[in-house]
Amino acid sequence: MTKSLKEIVLATNNRHKLKELSDIFGKDIKLLSLNETGFNKDIIEDGNTFIENSIKKCRTVYDFVQNPVIADDSGLCVEALGNAPGIYSARYGGNTLNDKERYLYLLKNLKGEKNLNASFVCALVLMINPNRYYIVQEEKKGIITFEPKGENGFGYDPVFFLPEYKKTVAELQDSQKNRISHRGKACRMMKKIINEISLL
Ligand code: IMP
Repeated sequence: MTKSLKEIVLATNNRHKLKELSDIFGKDIKLLSLNETGFNKDIIEDGNTFIENSIKKCRTVYDFVQNPVIADDSGLCVEALGNAPGIYSARYGGNTLNDKERYLYLLKNLKGEKNLNASFVCALVLMINPNRYYIVQEEKKGIITFEPKGENGFGYDPVFFLPEYKKTVAELQDSQKNRISHRGKACRMMKKIINEISLL
């Protein structure tokens, strides 16, 4: 007997991510936040890659909910910094910094650097049961600018310049960002996978 995936737990309490993924997955797949499941533990992200961190989040939440789970991990990789801050993007420069202080810290570390190539990366893992999971990772390439611009988005968006739009990501509307972003691409790929698979 086959059963389609109608309800999936998203391993986050971040409302921004829940909305972004729900918009892309559409009304046929209901995403539940961790709050809705009663899960309230901290998950230590101690993997070496975006994928390892996502798998750990998935496993930990799956053990609690015993239902399909999706987890994501994302970050900014800057070529000249050996792909830092990478999996440490959220705490780059220390836990006390706000988004603006964090991207200014990045610019300080890049001062005088000519290679400003960078990419946003997003890994998504869907765990249906402990023996069956699906992984996607997507990226969006851009260039770090020393002239922060734009009010939309979050994190490093004001310093992530897209030559093809002549704008930073923070100058794009949400819908435009979702169409081209690392997370948007990974979500659409995962949606295709969900549409293809069936549960035994
Ligand atoms: P996490 O996936 O919630 O662990 O977030 C990782 C960190 O990467 C965020 O806190 C941001 O600093 C950065 N990041 C990930 N995606 C984006 C994005 O779309 N725009 C700007 N910064 C991002």
